[in-house]
Amino acid sequence: MSDEKKAAAKVEPLRKTHPCPECGKPSHREHYPFCSNRCREVDLSRWLSGSYAIPVADDEAKADYEDEE
Ligand SMILES: [Zn+2]
Repeated sequence: MSDEKKAAAKVEPLRKTHPCPECGKPSHREHYPFCSNRCREVDLSRWLSGSYAIPVADDEAKADYEDEE
C-alpha cells in the first residue's frame, strides 16, 4: 500500500493536461482544470460549503473598487 502511494506521488503531470484537483485524472478540455463536470461540481460545492478557507476581505475589495476613479 505505502509503495503504491510513493509511486503515485512520483507521477509527473503531462504538459497538455493537468491532473484533476479532485481525482487526479488528466483534465478534460471542456472541464478544465477538472477531468469531468462531476469533479468540477464536487469542487464547486466544496467552495460553497466553505471547506476552503479563503481569507477574503470584502471591505478591502470594496475600498479598492471605490478607489478606482
Ligand atoms: Zn476528476
